[in-house]
Amino acid sequence: MPACTLNDVLMKAAPFPTALAASLRKVLGAGRLHTEAAERTAYAYDNSRRRGEAGAVAFPQTEAEVAAIVRICHAAYWPVVVRGLGSNTVGATVPSEGALVISTERMNRIVAVHAADRYLIAEAGVSNTGIQAAAREQGLFWPPDPSSAAYSTLGGNLGCNAAGPHAVKYGTPRENILGLSAVTGTGEIIRVGTHTTKGVVGYDLTRLLLGSEGTLGIITRATLKLWPWPEAVITLRACYTNVSAAAAAVTRIMSRPDLPWVLEFMDRAALDLVRGQGVVLPEAAGALLLIEVEGAHGALDRAVGNVSRAAAGPGCLGVDAAANEREAGELRRARKSLSPALRCLREGKINEDVVVPVSQVPALVARLESLAAEAAIPIVSFGHVGNGNLHVNLLFDPDDPREREEAAVALPKVFQAVLDLGGTLSGEHGVGLTKRDFIAMELAPPVLDLMRGIKQVFDPHGILNRGKTLPLAEVNADA
Ligand SMILES: Cc1cc2nc3c(=O)[nH]c(=O)nc-3n(C[C@H](O)[C@H](O)[C@H](O)COP(=O)(O)OP(=O)(O)OC[C@H]3O[C@@H](n4cnc5c(N)ncnc54)[C@H](O)[C@@H]3O)c2cc1C
Repeated sequence: MPACTLNDVLMKAAPFPTALAASLRKVLGAGRLHTEAAERTAYAYDNSRRRGEAGAVAFPQTEAEVAAIVRICHAAYWPVVVRGLGSNTVGATVPSEGALVISTERMNRIVAVHAADRYLIAEAGVSNTGIQAAAREQGLFWPPDPSSAAYSTLGGNLGCNAAGPHAVKYGTPRENILGLSAVTGTGEIIRVGTHTTKGVVGYDLTRLLLGSEGTLGIITRATLKLWPWPEAVITLRACYTNVSAAAAAVTRIMSRPDLPWVLEFMDRAALDLVRGQGVVLPEAAGALLLIEVEGAHGALDRAVGNVSRAAAGPGCLGVDAAANEREAGELRRARKSLSPALRCLREGKINEDVVVPVSQVPALVARLESLAAEAAIPIVSFGHVGNGNLHVNLLFDPDDPREREEAAVALPKVFQAVLDLGGTLSGEHGVGLTKRDFIAMELAPPVLDLMRGIKQVFDPHGILNRGKTLPLAEVNADA
């Protein structure tokens, strides 16, 4: 990526209108609207490593303030981007055209925990770990558990429909949100969904907003469905000679009734990174499954036996239970650190999170191996394989034009392979800017038109996270 100085950023940014700033200050006071260079720069990028142009940054503390801010920007046709902690990998919070960034950092209250009804209400800016801590005090948990839990917010998790290992058994936010409050693109506050685990009144706007990346509404608070924290968890490590043997074991495990609550995959290159962190693995291991089975004390041994038998099979070098919590924690930590650790192999990476039906995982893994050989670049895969969701990382040296070009050429081939196998381009990271121009490979023109129509209804002036998610044929961007 070319070096970008603070001056470059400020020179490019459209000036933030003085009258608009004055109106916003009436809502926020002087201290919670920042137009200084330092704040604008700090909020103009995300974990995609892209950088944009923020005109100003607002720090509302209440839903009413969010609504007032959006009403002002709607009237002025001024773009806004809602931002949690900017940990998304797809450029979903990179502001453009001097947009106003609305940070939810100061909307960070757990509003209520209703243990008897197993739900929790929280504001959008609470971190995922904050939610887990509040639920855990009542012996409960919320299943979405991205590796970025400590530095991602509820709003960001819902904006991307972000998930983690526990989705294999308990699902993503779409299966674990009962209802929410949001502010639409006109500044109207809407409350959708329920506090109950059943409800079918009207269209399901809750799930429409989940995964919509801040393009339809700004979620201000949500009602989360909680589950009992298990009595016991057993961690298993299954090593295989190669990725195909591990992929075949996944299909066997997932076809059994005793579903693990974690089923993670690592290929040979990922294992080398794990070894680099001091985890000792058999030398012959070319792939690994990290499996966790949870349940009540009395029933656990039988479930672990069944899962272990399914994991064993051709190419399996052994299925071992972690001797203690230290050993289990070491494996979990190594898995979580894989994404940043990839930078040790190559500075450049295209990080995808494709999904295929579980029975097609062996075919996808074989296709990725042949694409890596064809392109002569490393393709490292790991991830939530129980959902058929693999983080496929195309690695390249940014200073090597051949590797850069090969990675760019291989990317649409990876997507095509995934679609040919009945899969989808993203399981949890979302579309943002980086995948926006590929989604027409998956969604037919009438479907995209319907989505643009929905955007128009929620956000008639096209101010919410303009230019993200849907391929251009902009919605009223120039109105
Ligand atoms: C090391 C690392 C590991 C990661 N691991 C995982 C993983 O295991 N699983 C996974 O799914 N993701 C993972 N991610 C990606 C990222 O952390 C998630 O997408 C996370 O949910 C983003 O949260 P955030 O608060 O940082 O949101 P942001 O990045 O600030 O925003 C993400 C999107 O949500 C929208 N948004 C934010 N707040 C709101 C709101 N209140 N209302 C409506 N929309 C909103 C934004 O506009 C944007 O489109 C990882 C990232 C890193 C850096």
